[in-house]
Amino acid sequence: MKINLNNLKLPPDQSKNIHFAEDLDAEAWGSWGVRFKQPVVVEGILAHDGDHLAVQGSVHAEVELDCSRCLKPVAHTVDTRISAWLIDEPNQGEFSQAKDDMIVCLGGVADLRPLVEELIISEIPFNALCGEDCKGLCSMCGSDLNTGVCGCREDNIDPRWEKLKQLT
Ligand SMILES: [Zn+2]
Ligand SMILES: [Zn+2]
Repeated sequence: MKINLNNLKLPPDQSKNIHFAEDLDAEAWGSWGVRFKQPVVVEGILAHDGDHLAVQGSVHAEVELDCSRCLKPVAHTVDTRISAWLIDEPNQGEFSQAKDDMIVCLGGVADLRPLVEELIISEIPFNALCGEDCKGLCSMCGSDLNTGVCGCREDNIDPRWEKLKQLT
C-alpha cells in the first residue's frame, strides 16, 4: 500500500485515483483472532490542498472472528473511511497538532498500511457474537449449548440446594 511520491507529478488542481488490494500479515492478525477472507481493498484519491497531498477514500475488509461465547466463526465486514495527510518527514513538526491523521513519508514513499491496519482494528468488535442469544459453551464439559443441553447442570447443583432437597 505504498505510494511513491517521487515519481508522482500531480498538478495542484488535479487528483489521482488510488486502488490497492493487498493481504495483511495473516499470522499476526490470526494471533488476534482475526482472519481475512480476501485482500483488504483501499480505494480513493490523492489530492493537493496547494502545499500538501492528502489521501481520502475507503477501506474494505471481509474478516472472520471467533464468537466470544462459543468460538464459532463469525463473519464481519469492515467498511470505513481513510483520510490522511501525506507529510514529508522534515515537515512533520508543523503537522503535529493537526487533528487529521498523518502519514509520514520516508524517502518520498507513503505507506498507507500502518494507518489502514489501525483503522481496521478500531472497527473489529472485541466481543463478537454468532448471535445475540448465543448460549456459549458449557463451563464444565465444553460442549456447545446451542446444539443442546449437555447434562452437566443437573450434576452440578449448588450444595445449599442439595440440603434443601434432603428436607423435602
Ligand atoms: Zn456463539
Ligand atoms: Zn456440560
